[in-house]
Parts: sequence; C-alpha cells; structure tokens
Amino acid sequence: MPEPRTRLAPSPTGALHLGNARTFLINWAMARQNGWRIMLRIEDLDGPRIKTGADELAIDTLRWLGMDWDEGPTYQLHDLSRYHAALQRLADAGLIYPCACTRKEIAEAQSAPHGDSHDLRYPGTCRPAEPTPTRYVAGDDQQAWRVHAPDGEIVFDDGFAGRQAIDVQATVGDFVVASKAGLPAYQLAVVVDDHDQGVTHIVRGDDLITSTPRQLLLYRLLGYEPTPSYTHVPLVLGEDGHRLAKRHGDTRVSTYRDAGVSAERIVGLIAGWCGLGERTEMTAAEFAEAFDLAGLPRESVTFTGDDDRWLTEGSR
Ligand code: GLU
Repeated sequence: MPEPRTRLAPSPTGALHLGNARTFLINWAMARQNGWRIMLRIEDLDGPRIKTGADELAIDTLRWLGMDWDEGPTYQLHDLSRYHAALQRLADAGLIYPCACTRKEIAEAQSAPHGDSHDLRYPGTCRPAEPTPTRYVAGDDQQAWRVHAPDGEIVFDDGFAGRQAIDVQATVGDFVVASKAGLPAYQLAVVVDDHDQGVTHIVRGDDLITSTPRQLLLYRLLGYEPTPSYTHVPLVLGEDGHRLAKRHGDTRVSTYRDAGVSAERIVGLIAGWCGLGERTEMTAAEFAEAFDLAGLPRESVTFTGDDDRWLTEGSR
C-alpha cells in the first residue's frame, strides 16, 4: 500500500475567498483525521491569470486559518522537464497531435450550443486518421497539443458524489494537453504532479468533477498506477446561484482578516456550512475533530448577507 498522501493545490490567480477556504479546510481536516501526509503545491502554470504575490498570500491565509502541511510548497513552473518528458512519451506513442485551430474555429465547428464555453467540444479537425508517433515540440506559439480521447464512458466512484460516468470524447473531445505557449495544460500537469508526488487522495471542488475522467484517461495513457481516489465537494455559491466570485462582493479571506475578523469566526462560518450545527467560533483543529464527510450537505452552500454580517459583527 502506498503511503496515503494528499495535496493542497491553490492556483495563485487571486486571493482565496470563503469558498476556496471551505474546500481547503475540508481537504485538510480529512487528511488530519485519516493520517494522510499533506503537500502544498502552488499551481502556477495558468499563464496570464497568475498574479504576483498571490502564492505568498495563499500560503499566509492557509496558515492564518490554522492549516499546516508536511511538505512544500512546490511550484510547477520551477521544473517543466517532467511535463515535457510525459508529453514526449505520449507523442512517441502517437497519442497526442499538434493542433493549430483557434477557439473561434472550434466554436464555429460546434454542431450544437454547449453550456460551458470553457469546454467547447473539439470536433477533431487536426486529428490524424491513424495514431502517428511524432516529436513533441514545446512553445512555437502556433500549435497546441491534443490527446486522442477514445469513445466511451470513463467511470469512477467519487468519495462524496458517488459513481460518475462521463464520456470524454462526447463532451469535450480530444482535449488540450499543452498550450500554444508551450506550457503543459492543467489536465496534464496535475496528473504528472499527482503521480510524481505520490498523491493517493484528492479532495477538491465539484467544478472539477468533469475534469476527473480526463485525468484518469491520462493516467491510463501514461501507464501510471495506481490512480488516486477522488472526492468532490459542492461549491459555495452567491445568492444569484452562481459560484462565489468577485461580483458577490469582496469575500476574500484576507479582506475579512484586515477588517479584524478572527480566523475562528471564519472557520465557524465554514463549519456551519459543513453541517456541523449552530455556527460558533472554532479553531481549524476543532473543525478537523468535528468534521464528518457523511454529514456534509449534498447541495451547494449559498453565501448570504447574513453570513457576512455574522462575520463582521462578531469582530466588533
Ligand atoms: N489549482 C486548482 C484550483 O485552485 C485545483 C486543482 C486540483 O485540485 O486538481 O482550483
């Protein structure tokens, strides 16, 4: 049995908001309850969305809330060679191919409108008729790389959401594994990292549940075993039903902290959101003792004006 390990993997694209804090706290609590080692991984490959200093702010915020970790932080950008080696292995096996299509072309080729514009289905325009071994070339700005996604469902048992069956080819098609800028795409990078870092347990927001079959497919194509277990938890939404974001006001943990709100108050609010009863101030360690995944509400949580008042009025 591999040593159980998980990771906290913030993307330094902005300050952590209350919804991110809830997911990290759940992940951290499950790790501490079950004796998983925790590593901190900064996911800094997301080019233009990365903000200078957001990594340090994320680290500081996690610590301030009372979380800790056993290893890291590691940074993805520090060493791209592992990703390139994985891409080269896929290219050698003819499993990926270059694609110069623009987003606009893909949207125009789309036969039916698709709900999520981030996940336009790629119709296979550049896919070679036969898998063709080739040399992976990073970063020529002209072409991205896509993986041959087979037809058929990929099934996995989610630790919270239950059995999932998603057909990658039917939903997103051959997806991008390296960008035109020569950087590994999220789906590829996360799989190489989770494998190299021996991650056995992944806990994250359920906005990523549709990414999991793509990641499991890459595990298979790269010959990585065993695959980790996945637990996806519902997100925190704003009162308009959309996932918590800037338009719902400033819900950054650091903003509440600067306004004098205590970490215990924020953890208390999150505990209420996790089904731990009447909200009351508590430390992260107390949260980890009380947290019970089985009692986590199945539906998304809504951040309300009352929640905001509970935080800020408690600081006076
Ligand atoms: N860095 C991602 C995020 O902050 C998490 C990716 C993952 O858990 O696989 O949303």
